[in-house]
Amino acid sequence: MHTPVTIIGAGLGGLTLARVLHVHGIPATVHEAEPSPAARAQGGMLDIHDYNGQLAVEAAGLMDEFRGIVLEGRQAMRVLRPDGTVLVDKADDGTGGRPEAQRGELRQMLLDSLPPGTVHWGHKVSGVRALGSGRHEVTFADGSTVVADLLVGADGAWSRVRPLLTDVTPEYAGTAFVETYLFDADTRHPAAAKVVGGGSLMVPGEDGKLIGAHREKGDTLHTYVTLTESLESLDFPDPATAIERVARKFDGWAPELVALITETDTAPVLRPHYGLPTGLRWDRIPGVTLVGDAAHLSPPDGEGANQAMLDGAELAKALAAHPGDAEAALTAYEQEMYVRAETPIDDEFLLESLFGDDVPQELAATFTAVREDMP
Ligand SMILES: Cc1cc2nc3c(=O)[nH]c(=O)nc-3n(C[C@H](O)[C@H](O)[C@H](O)COP(=O)(O)OP(=O)(O)OC[C@H]3O[C@@H](n4cnc5c(N)ncnc54)[C@H](O)[C@@H]3O)c2cc1C
Repeated sequence: MHTPVTIIGAGLGGLTLARVLHVHGIPATVHEAEPSPAARAQGGMLDIHDYNGQLAVEAAGLMDEFRGIVLEGRQAMRVLRPDGTVLVDKADDGTGGRPEAQRGELRQMLLDSLPPGTVHWGHKVSGVRALGSGRHEVTFADGSTVVADLLVGADGAWSRVRPLLTDVTPEYAGTAFVETYLFDADTRHPAAAKVVGGGSLMVPGEDGKLIGAHREKGDTLHTYVTLTESLESLDFPDPATAIERVARKFDGWAPELVALITETDTAPVLRPHYGLPTGLRWDRIPGVTLVGDAAHLSPPDGEGANQAMLDGAELAKALAAHPGDAEAALTAYEQEMYVRAETPIDDEFLLESLFGDDVPQELAATFTAVREDMP
């Protein structure tokens, strides 16, 4: 089988690329390892920013559909001290630039916008090899192959396409999330529900510890406990021990905050963070490039999905702008993508984007300290 634009991975980056190509009349095929769109829960709520993710949604022509899946009120934001006193309690007045949507609904929105048959499910890439003249052969786990004129790795952290461009692989970043879920929180976990409020909660502590939580659809509280520790120290034998040991790290914190850990309705999920080196670049290799985490994985900082979508949109726009000259398109795309990926979001800009222009001094100082505590 021979395909013109071959995208590996139906995450937000790969699907945005396929959609924006479609908007420009360029056909693409997406090969995805998972057997179906419903094969796996897609994770939590994502805030889609007006300075990156929303630009991609606009390029995809899906702003109305996006507004339809935005969760009302979820841009509310609370920041507390570990003892439970409130530093910031900002309501969602509907004017913020970071509307929240469930990741699964965002992915489905993109899938629904593609011509039927664009995504080939259950196609796990096991190998890739250069054929010369910019063409590549992709081999799947079932032994089948495709030849790509233009190959795009949108296959995330452990990309099978990346080795065509660089030998660099992700390394443990020194931080991890422990994730918990509290369901029907208003009735079943009222103190925790109250402390989270209507949107997001952030409670920075010392030594790189932080409790973050979101109120997702259906009064579900999704908590991300950040720990800054070695991987070995996070080797928990069973869920009950994990809950107990993680909770112990928050001794002395307000009970309603610790409840976000101890009252979990699911086994806690440990998610170590991996990253590629900041500033990773590669020599231009004809016929292949990367988008999203495959290109610039970093520990979760609230930008990864937004950046993956923008990469997808920008690559599609570059291909549309250089008909018949894929190399010029890839060069233009990569040069801009490198700069986007290696330029940290300015602290002041981020604080304003999160809390408006009236940021309490203590919050700004705490925020900087948290960033400095991170490895
Ligand atoms: C816990 C957590 C919370 C996060 N929160 C946020 C947030 O709030 N905001 C934000 O912007 N970002 C967030 N991120 C980062 C964000 O999830 C990623 O940056 C984003 O998903 C990258 O998108 P992607 O399309 O590049 O890759 P992915 O989403 O990883 O998609 C890759 C796709 O490729 C498929 N694939 C992988 N290997 C193969 C193969 N061999 N063959 C075929 N298909 C393959 C996968 O199944 C997957 O569907 C978070 C990350 C984590 C871990």
